[in-house]
Amino acid sequence: MNIVEFDKFIEKIKAYYPMFKLTTEGTNEWKDVLSKYETADILRVFSEWIYEHPDAQPKLQLLTKYLKTKEEKKTNSTDYLIRCDLCGKEMRLSVYENSYRDRCLLIKSLQSAIKEKKGVDVSYEELDGCTMEILRKLEDKYIPMPKSLNDILNKF
Ligand SMILES: [Zn+2]
Repeated sequence: MNIVEFDKFIEKIKAYYPMFKLTTEGTNEWKDVLSKYETADILRVFSEWIYEHPDAQPKLQLLTKYLKTKEEKKTNSTDYLIRCDLCGKEMRLSVYENSYRDRCLLIKSLQSAIKEKKGVDVSYEELDGCTMEILRKLEDKYIPMPKSLNDILNKF
């Protein structure tokens, strides 16, 4: 709901509830909260409110109680559960993309690099218990940069 729609909405509330009045602070809060929702959703809930509470003016928390914000709607439609094809763990797509994928890939690479260089089997869980900082240190130790890239870096 944008500012123009918000002003219209407040006028609409006042038309149904003449006693309805907001302080400056209250107006800011309503504006701030309602800006996160779709206008059509707010108007629909308000119509129901008029019908169900002809004598009680609407309350912000109750109007938005069962509504999803625009952001939540976006997240819910695209944030489905996926299974990581490296370790088989199930998680939300957003978690996977934001932080999990790189970490899982690193852990898997470390497992095979440590096995190759030390002949030791380190479990996934053991590495998964490490902070990213430790994993990066292990990466430096066990997965060195190819020599050609290292040379390039050292030139600058
Ligand atoms: Zn994984």
